[in-house]
Amino acid sequence: MDERLTEVLPGIYRLVLSSNYNNINKINIFIIPGKNPERDRSLMVDVGFHDEDCMMQLNRAMKRLGIPYSRLDVFLTHKHQDHCGLAHTVERMGARIYMSPGEGRHHYDCLHYNEKSYQDQASVLKYAGITMDRTPKLWEMFTSAVKEDTLKEFSISQFPYLPVHTRDSFRYGEYALEAIPLKGHTFGQMGLVDKKSGVFFCADQIIRGIVPIVATSYKDEHLLRGYFKSLKNAKENLKNCRFFPAHNEMLQGEEVGRVIDHIVFAYLEKIQIIRQLVQHGRSPMTVVQIAMLAYGMQELPKTQEQFVFLKMITSKTFSCLEYLLDEDFVSREERNGVLYWNAG
Ligand SMILES: [Zn+2]
Repeated sequence: MDERLTEVLPGIYRLVLSSNYNNINKINIFIIPGKNPERDRSLMVDVGFHDEDCMMQLNRAMKRLGIPYSRLDVFLTHKHQDHCGLAHTVERMGARIYMSPGEGRHHYDCLHYNEKSYQDQASVLKYAGITMDRTPKLWEMFTSAVKEDTLKEFSISQFPYLPVHTRDSFRYGEYALEAIPLKGHTFGQMGLVDKKSGVFFCADQIIRGIVPIVATSYKDEHLLRGYFKSLKNAKENLKNCRFFPAHNEMLQGEEVGRVIDHIVFAYLEKIQIIRQLVQHGRSPMTVVQIAMLAYGMQELPKTQEQFVFLKMITSKTFSCLEYLLDEDFVSREERNGVLYWNAG
């Protein structure tokens, strides 16, 4: 069998897809074939990068497992390009797509956009303090990236999907899975859990060796608070499961707690730095100003890589600021759509 396709538990296969042009270049796709794949429905958790080579790898795995696309259900954990880049393509080949409507609510996010997102971008950037008047150079970088489609790694073609809600159940092969919300990394991220068999597809919520980005684009989404709550739930209530993340290796036993603690500490440290910056600032600051200070970015990005980094730290800082606001450590004022942050 292809070394990229392995049976990780009886009846659960992992396919590792890789892409050359993406900065996250590997993703784990999980497949649970139906008892009779020709006739019964099979499940795929996430579908991978929009990339010809990935599509070929996917086709090969489907063939090996004897699953026709017309009998395939694809559960998308969240709307990031590495997870649903091929959703549009497999949907047209006959697959049925499931996703949380929380992920489809906006056309634009710091980490994804589609053909309709141009209008939404202005208000999102404004929240963070990036406007045509205040920061003309940054404004130009963001708008041209979407207009000219230079940030292909964030672009996602639209696809129709069936909405998934908390507790919806999915049965494939020997497994009875239940959808659980994994707010944090994104607003509507969802995972699948089968407590009886001890299986948890935890998407980008808990990954070994990585502190997943909690990416806020819109105000009042309380993503970091939701993230901490979801990590606590995973640590307390799902500790007997094997965790199958979308990146890196499976986690189980005590390691789960250690990985979760590491993520929480990393965020608390960043939150503390950001809190001090806001408290010692001479005047209220915008998200992008605070982000550049918190991450020691002294000048505007010159390369594509620096630009992507700024995009990431802006959404991460926004999450930390919203958490500080939720906990009354900072205050916020909105003027003409721009958010200004001040000591609480
Ligand atoms: Zn993601």
